Amino acid sequence: MRTQLTHHVARLFAGDLSAFGGPATDEAVAGHIRAEQMSLVLGYSVGIMLANACNASVLAIALWQSPDRILALIWAVVVAGAAIVFGLQSHASRRITKPQFVSRRAMHRLVRNAFVLGAAWGIVPVAFFADASTGGQLVITCLCSGMLAGGALAFATIPIAAIAFTAPIFVGIAICLSRNGDLAFLLIAFLVVVYGSVLLRGVFVNSFGFARRVMRQIEAERTVRQDPLTLLPNRIAFNETLDGTLKRLALSGEEFAVLLLDLDRFKEVNDRFGHPAGDQFLVQVASRLQRCTRAAEHVARIGGDEFALVMANLARPEDALEIAERFVASFSEPLLIEGCEIVGATSVGIVLAPRDGNTPLDIMKNADAALYRAKKAGPGTICFFEEEDDKASRDRKALQTDLAGAVARDELFLVFQPFLDLGNNRITGFEALLRWQHPLRGLVPPSEFIPIAEETGLIHEIGEWVIRRACATLADWPEDIRVAVNFSAAQFHNASILQTIVQALADAKVAPHRLEIEITESMLLSKYGSAASILNALLELGATVALDDFGTGFSSLTYLRKLPFSRIKIDQSFIRDMLVQPDCAAIVKSVISLARDLDIDVVAEGVETADQLEYLRQINCDEVQGYLIGRPVSADGVQVLLNSKKLRAIFAA
Ligand code: C2E
Ligand code: MG
Ligand code: MG
Repeated sequence: MRTQLTHHVARLFAGDLSAFGGPATDEAVAGHIRAEQMSLVLGYSVGIMLANACNASVLAIALWQSPDRILALIWAVVVAGAAIVFGLQSHASRRITKPQFVSRRAMHRLVRNAFVLGAAWGIVPVAFFADASTGGQLVITCLCSGMLAGGALAFATIPIAAIAFTAPIFVGIAICLSRNGDLAFLLIAFLVVVYGSVLLRGVFVNSFGFARRVMRQIEAERTVRQDPLTLLPNRIAFNETLDGTLKRLALSGEEFAVLLLDLDRFKEVNDRFGHPAGDQFLVQVASRLQRCTRAAEHVARIGGDEFALVMANLARPEDALEIAERFVASFSEPLLIEGCEIVGATSVGIVLAPRDGNTPLDIMKNADAALYRAKKAGPGTICFFEEEDDKASRDRKALQTDLAGAVARDELFLVFQPFLDLGNNRITGFEALLRWQHPLRGLVPPSEFIPIAEETGLIHEIGEWVIRRACATLADWPEDIRVAVNFSAAQFHNASILQTIVQALADAKVAPHRLEIEITESMLLSKYGSAASILNALLELGATVALDDFGTGFSSLTYLRKLPFSRIKIDQSFIRDMLVQPDCAAIVKSVISLARDLDIDVVAEGVETADQLEYLRQINCDEVQGYLIGRPVSADGVQVLLNSKKLRAIFAA
C-alpha cells in the first residue's frame, strides 16, 4: 500500500500524466514525453527568466516608497539574480542536441525549481501587500496575476510543474486577502479562484493533448524505422545508425565494422514451401540473428533476405569475426516451419571503417563486394573486404554493361557438344552451349556471364536468341538428331517464353520432338511460378525435358514425379569421382537403376576417360557426354562430326 503510494507520488512529480488520469505510458515513452516537455520549457526559459527579472525590478520600484523597501530590494535582487543565472544555464544546456529520453530525476528538479520560484512570488503578497500604497497594491495584484498566467503558459504541458509554480502564489494571495475583510478583496479572491481553475483546466487539456501527439509521433517514427515482418530495424534505421557511427568516427576516431548478411538459398525455401513459410523462416532467422549480437546492437533487415549490423566501437577486427561466426553457427540447427525442418545458412561480408571506407556509399559497396565473394565460396562463408573485391565488383559492373549490347553486336555464338548413345554407339544429338566472344576480354565463360544475365534480366533477350539460333541450326541436321537447350529458372518467370519457343520451332520448320529443354531442379521448386505449366505445355507440344546437373541441388526424388522427364543428366562431379569414391559409384548406379524403373533415360555428363566410359557401359547408362566423346564444337564442326565414320569406330564396343 505504502509502496504503491510512493510510486504514485513519484509518478506525479515526474510529470507522468497518467497520475492525473491522462494517457498511460511505459517508462521509455514517458521518458520521451518528458524530453519533449522539457525541451518546450527550456525553449521558453530565457523569456521566463527575463520576465521574472523584469517583474522583480518593477516590484522594487513600486515599493520604493513603502516601509518594506529594504526587504523588497533584497527580495528583488535575489529573484532577479537567480532568474538571470537560471536563464543563462538553461539556455546553455539547450544548445546540446535534444535528448530522446529525460529521466524522472531531471523532471523532479524542474518541478522543484518551479516551486522555489513560485514560492518566491508567493511571499510577495504576504510580505508587502499590507503596507504598500494603493498604487503598490495594484502593481502587486497585477504582477501576481501575471505570474499565475505566465506560469500556466510556460508549464502548459507539465501540470505538476504548473501546480508547483502557481500553488504558492495562490496561497500567498489567499493569506493576504484573508487578513483583510474588505468586500472588494473578497471579490478579488473569487476572481483569482475562477482564473486559477480556468488556467489549470487549460493546462490539463493542453498537456494531455500534447502527450497524445508525442505518443502518436513516437509510434509513427517507430513504424517508419521498423520492418513489419521481423520487427527488426529496417533499412532506414540501419542507414541512420550507420550515419551516426560515421559521425562518431569523424569526431573521435571510433572504429567500427559493418556486417552484411545474405541468406543462402532463401529463394529456394520461398519457392519450395510458399511465401507464408518463407515469412516464418525470416522471422525465426531474425530472432536467431538478434540473439548473436552484443546487447546494445541490433541486426537490421535491409532487404528481402539481407540483414546488416553496425558494430560500433570496435576494439579488434576479431570481434566482428566472432559475431559473424555466431551468425553462421546460429543456423547449425534446422528451423522448424509448419512441421518441416528447413536447413538455412548465411554468408557474411565484413567491412572495417575507416580502413575500408568512410562514407556510407563506400562502406556498403565494399560490404557488398565482400559478401559477393563469400556467397561465391559457398553457404556459411565469412569474408572480410579486400582490395581485390573492389576490383572484382567494378569488373562485374563493366561486364554487365558490355553484356547489354552483346546480342546486338553479334558477340554471342553457340557451340554444340554431342551425346553418344551407348546402346548402338550412335550420336543422338547435341547440347547447345552459349559462348560470348568479348572484343577485349576474349572468350567469357557462361559460368561468368549467365549469372549476370540472370541478375539483370538480360537472360530473356539472350535466351530468346539462343533458342532461335539453336532451332535454326537444328534445321540443317539429320531428322534423327536432337538439340538440347539450357534454360535458366528466370526465363520461366516470363510466360511469353512459350510463345518464343513455339515461334522458333515454326520459323526453323523443325519438329518439336527434336528439341530438348534442359532445366535444373531449382526450376521445379516454384509453387507459384509458371515454370511447371509452361513445361507441361511444351511437353504437350512434343518437346522433351531433361533434368540437368542431377544430384547437385535438393536432389529430391519427388521431383521426378512432377514432370514426365525424358532424361536425367547425372552431374559431372559424380562421374569424375565415381571410380575413386565408392559412394559416388553407388549413387550413379542407383540413379541409373531408378531411372530404368521409371522409364527415364540417363545421360552421364563430363565423361573424360575411357575407364569411365567402360564403367558406364557396364552399368547400363543410356547416353554419355564429355570431352572424351567430343568437346563443344561450332555448327560447322557438328557437320564434320556427323559425317565422320571414325567416331563409330572409336566407341564401338
Ligand atoms: P551444363 O548445362 O551442365 O553444361 C555442361 C558443361 O560442362 C559445359 O560447360 C560443358 O562445356 C562442360 N563439359 C562438358 N563435358 C565436359 C568434360 O568432359 N569435362 C569437363 N570438365 N567439363 C565438361 P559450359 O559450356 O562452360 O557451360 C556451363 C554452364 O553454363 C552449363 O552447364 C549451363 O548450365 C550454362 N549454360 C551454357 N549455355 C547456356 C545457355 O544457353 N543458357 C543457359 N541458361 N545456361 C547455359
Ligand atoms: Mg546443360
Ligand atoms: Mg549439366
